[in-house]
Amino acid sequence: MSRVAIIGSGFSGLSASCFLAAAGFEVTIFEKNETPGGRARSFDNHGFTFDMGPSWYWMPAVFEKFFGHFNKKPSDYYELVRLDPSYRIIFNVNERYDIPAGVEKLKETFEGIERGSGDQLMRFLDEAKFKYEISFENLIYFPGLKVTELLDAHVVKALFRLHVFQPIRSYIKKFFNDPRLIQLLEFPVLFLGAKPERTPALYSLMNYADMALGTWYPLGGFNQIVNAMTSLAKSLGVGFSFNSCVQNIQIESDHAKGIWVNGAFHPFDYIIASADYHHVEQDLLPSGQRNYSKSYWNKKLMAPSCLIFYIGTNKKIEGLLHHTLFFDEDFNQHAKEIYDHPQWPSAPQFYVSCPSKTDRSVAPADCENLMILIPVATDLEDTEQTRERYFHMAMERIKRLTGQDIRSHVVYKKSYAHRDFATDYNAFKGNAYGMANTLFQTANLRPSIINKSVRNLFYTGQLTIPGPGVPPAIISGQVVATHLIKTHGNL
Ligand SMILES: Cc1cc2nc3c(=O)[nH]c(=O)nc-3n(C[C@H](O)[C@H](O)[C@H](O)COP(=O)(O)OP(=O)(O)OC[C@H]3O[C@@H](n4cnc5c(N)ncnc54)[C@H](O)[C@@H]3O)c2cc1C
Repeated sequence: MSRVAIIGSGFSGLSASCFLAAAGFEVTIFEKNETPGGRARSFDNHGFTFDMGPSWYWMPAVFEKFFGHFNKKPSDYYELVRLDPSYRIIFNVNERYDIPAGVEKLKETFEGIERGSGDQLMRFLDEAKFKYEISFENLIYFPGLKVTELLDAHVVKALFRLHVFQPIRSYIKKFFNDPRLIQLLEFPVLFLGAKPERTPALYSLMNYADMALGTWYPLGGFNQIVNAMTSLAKSLGVGFSFNSCVQNIQIESDHAKGIWVNGAFHPFDYIIASADYHHVEQDLLPSGQRNYSKSYWNKKLMAPSCLIFYIGTNKKIEGLLHHTLFFDEDFNQHAKEIYDHPQWPSAPQFYVSCPSKTDRSVAPADCENLMILIPVATDLEDTEQTRERYFHMAMERIKRLTGQDIRSHVVYKKSYAHRDFATDYNAFKGNAYGMANTLFQTANLRPSIINKSVRNLFYTGQLTIPGPGVPPAIISGQVVATHLIKTHGNL
């Protein structure tokens, strides 16, 4: 059996491991942390279970398709519930909207904000559905290695309807005038890590995922998906080595011979790096074997980092739903401070996840489990004083907008930002979401899944194709594993 080492146990590494093990490879995952899941790990404290990263379960079909490859279903591992309302947006004290599950009800919400926008929403979502289907049946599973992949008959025929060359901001404005609707429709694009002016309108497919396919939640927390994939991988024979930070990939000529971990050498036939691409290239490989130089990385637009607070309170908090977006400050100013003039934001928008609204198991009785997430620029000086300043800013805003000061009810609090992303995941510039999906950082223009000079070394994860997010990370693992399986024997 050919032996494969996978560096990192995030969604991309777990996904790749399952496909390779099922195809008969002997697979071992080396993970620097003590538990699997990467950015989607969780931790328990004071009776609370906090998901550390992802909280929005979108595109359930991607998860079904993944487990389906192994004759399993998500429900074999976890119970999903659809949230209704999907989420709440707070624009100011007197103005908040609950986004209902289901397009018909949503149409009414739109109509209440702007006359005629209900029908426009239907047209907008029809186009978004088309893009979603073309992308998820074709584009997103391409390995991004040859331009000819993009000449696929379906994609070529659809090119004009995919709006690849139009920014999503101007595209949305063709349908809607009200700034609140525009902001609501721009919100899912933020997952892709760039400003709406720089994100292709192709990604209105995210609006279809949000509004038509729905926002779901795995009971027990997002980490249930990590547990599910880890348990599937183990059942397929994948070995796990935790607390195992890979220090070096040993290369001889154009071949990777194995990896060094905690001072010991482990020989392998193939290596798949699912840790952050920049770290793998710059820290684990000799300079002559890297695909990309330091200056390449410095020119790339990284998706933002974020400042997070994991908070447990000893009482229920009114005014919040499972997902609440605080859009009471100017998004354009916030975006400028993330992308154009990177600095700590003057008045950021933020997001609060409160899974205890849906799931009693993640907090003690009558308590609330909160994650406050503030998107910020990468590479900022990250000090305790700065974090504390933003904690009080968020608390003041929550007090003003929900009428409750929760500070005296906080029984657990932990902050997380750049320093932690860099220490825990070797994240370039402390990024949270990898590399942004702009026009020039999409599909074949993203860092390649193959190493161009080391024939048996591959890459997967949110810095390569197709991009940031849990569904893309799962697909990324599948794509690289499929490529290795196909080319195995010729390498
Ligand atoms: C705060 C936050 C919120 C998010 N919210 C959402 C959301 O709601 N919905 C959504 O779809 N997506 C969300 N995302 C994005 C999503 O979590 C990521 O895109 C996805 O989890 C990335 O998976 P990955 O496998 O590419 O990388 P990672 O999860 O980072 O996995 C890489 C692994 O490699 C390990 N590693 C690094 N260096 C080494 C080394 N030298 N040796 C061994 N191991 C190493 C790391 O420890 C890590 O476990 C969020 C991300 C963050 C950070």
